[in-house]
Amino acid sequence: MTQEDVFKNLIAHAKEYGFIFQSSEIYDGLSAVYDYGQLGAELKNNIKRYWWDAMVRLHDNIVGIDSAIFMHPSIWEASGHVGAFNDPLIDNKDSKKRYRADVLLEDYLEKIEEKINKEVEKGRKKFADGFDEAQFRTTNPNVVRNVQKQEEVSRRMNDALRANDLAALKQLIVDCEIACPVSGSRNWTDVRQFNLMFSTQIGSVSEEANVIYLRPETAQGIFVNFLNVQKTGRMKIPFGIAQIGKAFRNEIVARQFIFRMREFEQMEMQFFVRPGEELKWFSHWKDARLRWHKSLGLGDEKYRFHDHEKLAHYANAATDIEFAFPFGFKELEGIHSRTDFDLSRHQEFSGRKQQYFDPETNESYVPYVVETSIGLDRTVLAVLSSAYSEEKLDNGEERVVLRLPAVLAPVKLAVLPLVKKDGLPEKARDIMNDLKFDFNCQYDEKDSIGKRYRRQDAIGTPCCVTIDHQSLDDNQVTIRERDSMQQQRVPIAQLRRLVEEQVSLRKWLERM
Ligand code: ATP
Repeated sequence: MTQEDVFKNLIAHAKEYGFIFQSSEIYDGLSAVYDYGQLGAELKNNIKRYWWDAMVRLHDNIVGIDSAIFMHPSIWEASGHVGAFNDPLIDNKDSKKRYRADVLLEDYLEKIEEKINKEVEKGRKKFADGFDEAQFRTTNPNVVRNVQKQEEVSRRMNDALRANDLAALKQLIVDCEIACPVSGSRNWTDVRQFNLMFSTQIGSVSEEANVIYLRPETAQGIFVNFLNVQKTGRMKIPFGIAQIGKAFRNEIVARQFIFRMREFEQMEMQFFVRPGEELKWFSHWKDARLRWHKSLGLGDEKYRFHDHEKLAHYANAATDIEFAFPFGFKELEGIHSRTDFDLSRHQEFSGRKQQYFDPETNESYVPYVVETSIGLDRTVLAVLSSAYSEEKLDNGEERVVLRLPAVLAPVKLAVLPLVKKDGLPEKARDIMNDLKFDFNCQYDEKDSIGKRYRRQDAIGTPCCVTIDHQSLDDNQVTIRERDSMQQQRVPIAQLRRLVEEQVSLRKWLERM
């Protein structure tokens, strides 16, 4: 099965088991907007908790806030979003489909990369043991030609983006003979800039209605509260402010399921430091954030840094943590050294000082900021896509199992009476009623025990306990582990400890 097929199956699975639904489905859906179902909401909450505790609870110099989505419109002038939060868009006149010009070009570059890789694989087969990849890449005429083409297109694209030269972007699309994937034609409009912020109006009709924006990032809510938090929390630099919340972007290219949404959630932290110390902290947070990701056990090889060469005008260092999604390595989290840009701009636009008095140096200054910004929905996708597995068992049966990190699993323990009679359901309910204070438990008495195990595997429940007739006499139950499917007979009194060993937040966070 190709990666694409597995991804399709995962999307269907996420729907079938109540993780993720298309928004407004009975009205044929709303593009790039999704709802989280009963299990998706639990998974999302567990991820939030894992992030919040790692960032806020475990750092005595980081606090968390929850700022409003609506903010004064001047904030988005100051932050640069009104003027520059744009994507270059282009329409195909035949299919009427709209694309991001830079994405069309990136897809084109990816195709060249595929051609190069195919050629290299051909060489590897042909020369077998004597194959020298480095030499092949520098001498094979097809590879050399494609690498040159790749470099040329990527240089022209970056130059055009940097210079905001929309005509040059269009020309590049024409020169590369890129066709619309839907109509197959090269009948393109000019490239135009498109602001990604959603706007609406605040105030009733009788009042003077003002245009305001739905926030495109949560970070600005932190910047404008910097002094409130610093003063009321008596925070001393270096310190951080964290926040989890919704953000909205009118994305032109909405695809790849919950990877690119128009309404999504971010988990951001702004770390305020002394000017001059920002690069040290940038490197600190790069390491710390990668450790957090790896502690989830999805596979260390699934992460890589992508350092930005082309920096935004306000940044002096930036990197992405990329994850191996089913459609390739893509950004999961951004870490940016934003200098004093945001606070200085708010100082300028609001006319209020945004300075910190440093008691150690006896100086006042606008702090520098290092930001870590991770998409919650992209984390859900990273977790689900690496957990999803279709397996053939030794007995010839098949199972679909979500090998979720136990700490994130929506249901931690399934409580299953072997039969629906003879007092077993009552015994099972007793266990459930006790343990539900500690873990999210699910009770299930329908169908054969084998079917019930499959249902729990499919939603990633790490532990199942089965109550049988003997349990009534000896107060022991069978506990089954999801991944190994191993079963063990244990006293009911030990259940809490055994489940806790697998799902305890403390244990997982201690691995960081
Ligand atoms: P991209 O280049 O993929 O559009 P970005 O560089 O614009 O992302 P940032 O502005 O750095 O993203 O936002 C921080 C994080 O928020 C991203 O790393 C990503 O995880 C998440 N994010 C951004 N846009 C979206 C979106 N449309 N849908 C879901 N998550 C998003």
